[in-house]
Parts: sequence; structure tokens; C-alpha cells
Amino acid sequence: MSFDQLQAELDQRKRDHLYRRRRVLESAQGPEVQVDGRRFLAFCSNDYLGLANHPEVIAAMRDGAARYGVGGGGPHLVNGHSAAHHELEDALAEFTGRERVLLFSTGYMANLGAINALLGKQDAIFQDRLNHASLLDAGLLSGARFQRYLHNDADSLAQRLAKADARRKLVVTDGVFSMDGDLADLPGLALVARQQGAWLMVDDAHGFGCIGRGGRGIVDHFGLGNDEVPVLVGTLGKAFGTAGAFVAGSETLIETLIQLARTYIYTTSMPPAVACATLASLRLLEREDWRRERLNSLIARFRNGCRQLGLEVMDSPTPIQPILVGESGKAMAMSAALEAQGIFVSAIRPPTVPAGSARLRVTLSAEHSDEQLDRLLDALDKARGMTA
Ligand SMILES: *Cc1c(COP(=O)(O)O)cnc(C)c1O
Repeated sequence: MSFDQLQAELDQRKRDHLYRRRRVLESAQGPEVQVDGRRFLAFCSNDYLGLANHPEVIAAMRDGAARYGVGGGGPHLVNGHSAAHHELEDALAEFTGRERVLLFSTGYMANLGAINALLGKQDAIFQDRLNHASLLDAGLLSGARFQRYLHNDADSLAQRLAKADARRKLVVTDGVFSMDGDLADLPGLALVARQQGAWLMVDDAHGFGCIGRGGRGIVDHFGLGNDEVPVLVGTLGKAFGTAGAFVAGSETLIETLIQLARTYIYTTSMPPAVACATLASLRLLEREDWRRERLNSLIARFRNGCRQLGLEVMDSPTPIQPILVGESGKAMAMSAALEAQGIFVSAIRPPTVPAGSARLRVTLSAEHSDEQLDRLLDALDKARGMTA
């Protein structure tokens, strides 16, 4: 059997401007990166606080590797649960104000593991239609009855919950929506979940480190408690600048995950040195409020600049500042026009976002200077002219 059919599908993706390509980075993360031999000013990293290449974090990883070696060596439940993992779990539990935390190797695996440990065929899951792919996949895999509600719409959720007849009901939302940058209406969702006897799970991949007191995330931002959001997921590859993820919650929740979460049980633990590095970035993030303040001032400057240029930004108070373009071909052309000016911004197309809502996903970092931001604004203005 040949691959002709696959090749025809690939060719069609190219014609539809949906073909995805990887760029080869030859430098560390930072405002300036080297890609395919050229220097670029980059506005597409999730390293919002500039910790991925921080000397203290690098040193902690180096020391961790010297002490524990490089590999995790096995799953947490066999021989892979090191003192470094354990210490990081305790520190994150304190940071989030929860009884316990469980580390996972990636956010994708945390979501698959948590949802599948909590739900089965007798249950029902309710997800925002713009939730991250890992949450949607986790819901489908669980075998629970799967429903999507309108984006950030507590009434739409309430209608669906009221009709559901299930052993358990789980409502799941991104905290900060990863492709739009807007915040979940957590108070509204939490109220509906409580009224209807459902659990609420929040995936705060992009909120952790950036919003809330001391970067404690969206649950803290809205002043909600553990009862209102009993299942909290955070990832470490974004504002924390390292890798991995965690679920935070009660003793009972975490013990349940240790017994049942297959993406926890059947996989090698993250390298202990990554846990050491993450502990260092947690300390930096707690100590250096200026990183969040700096980020907020860049966000305001960017939004003002866009408004003055008549560029359509979305309703986002976070470092994710997408510029809505519409058609995939146009988004690709804008991205290429920016690249020609030495600026690296990725175009996001369907199916990652709904059809007709392709965008340039600009992300900001505390390490960007005002001057670099102004170069981006100028380049966006020119790119619009070049692709009009
Ligand atoms: C990035 C992201 C994830 C996946 O996290 P990884 O650690 O990169 O696997 C999960 N959920 C959301 C909302 C994300 O943005």
C-alpha cells in the first residue's frame, strides 16, 4: 500500500494555506533568537517572564543534573520519584494554597490523566468550545458524555448542566484562553457549577506566573477558593520557563490521581534536574514582582499602539495579544511580511482556531524593551501595507 493518498492530502493542505512547518531555533529563548541562520526579534514565545534562559534557573538545572543525573530513571510509582520532585510538589502546594500537588511530565498529560481518572462512561463533561486541544482530547478519551458550551458563557453551561443526568459532572475551562488571551469568567462558571452539583476544573497554563497575587494565577485573581475550583492545573513550560505540569487540589484528589491517572503511572518522571530548575524559577517569580509589572506595562503599550494603528486586537489583559486577520492565507502573508522585516510572529490557523479567525498570535515577555515593542508595531503597520 503506497502513501499516495497521504501525499495528496498534504498537497491539499498546502493549497489551503494550512500546511505547518517547523522553524529551527539555534539560540536560547529570548527577545532575540536565531532561526535558520538569521537573527529575529521574536514575539511568539510562551516564556512570558523571561525565565527560560535565566542564569539562576540554568545553574539550578546544572546542579540538579550533577546531583541526580539526567534521566528520571523510571515512573514515579517505581523508582522515579526523587527528593527534587517531592520538594517541588510541596513548594507548589504552598504557592497555590492547596493541600497537595502532583507533578506530570507535560500539561497535555496532566489534562489527560486528571480527566480520565475522574470520569468514566456514567459521567458527563462540559467544556468551553475554545478549550485547549489537550482538554478536548481528554474529554473524548474518558468516554463520558461530552458537551461543549458557548465560549465563556455561564448561561449556556447552565442549560446543558440542567439537562444532564450523570453520576458525576465535570466542568472544564482554560483559565486564560491560549489562542485569544481572554480570561475565563470563573466566578460565573463556579457559581453555575456549584448550583448544579458539578466539579470545576481550571487549566491555568497561561495564567500561572502572570496574573493573580504574586503570579498565583486566575483562581487567585478572582479571589476564589479551593471549594469553588477543586481541580487546578498549571503548566511549567510557559511563565515558569521550564517543562512539565501539575495538578493541585485536596488530599483525596491527589491520592485518586496517584492511583488512577494513567499518564502519571505509565510514564517516566520528568528529569529531576527540571524539578530543581522549576524550584528556582518559582523562587524568582515570587521574588521579582517587577517581571509582572513590566509585562503589564508592555501589554498596555502594545494595545495602545495597535489602537492608534487601527489594528484589531482581541479582548485580552494577558501577554497573549492576538491580532485577528481572518483568512489563513492572509495570516500567512502577514507573518511572512513580518519575517521579511526580521520579526518572528506565528500565524495561527484552523483547526487550532475556528474557521475564518486566523490570527497573528503576538506574545509579550517581560524581557522585551519598549524599543523592541515599537519596532513590532512599526513592522505590523508596514506588513499590513505589504499584504493589502
Ligand atoms: C500549553 C497548554 C497545555 C499543554 O501544556 P504542555 O506542558 O505544553 O504539554 C495545556 N493546556 C493549555 C491551556 C495550554 O496552553
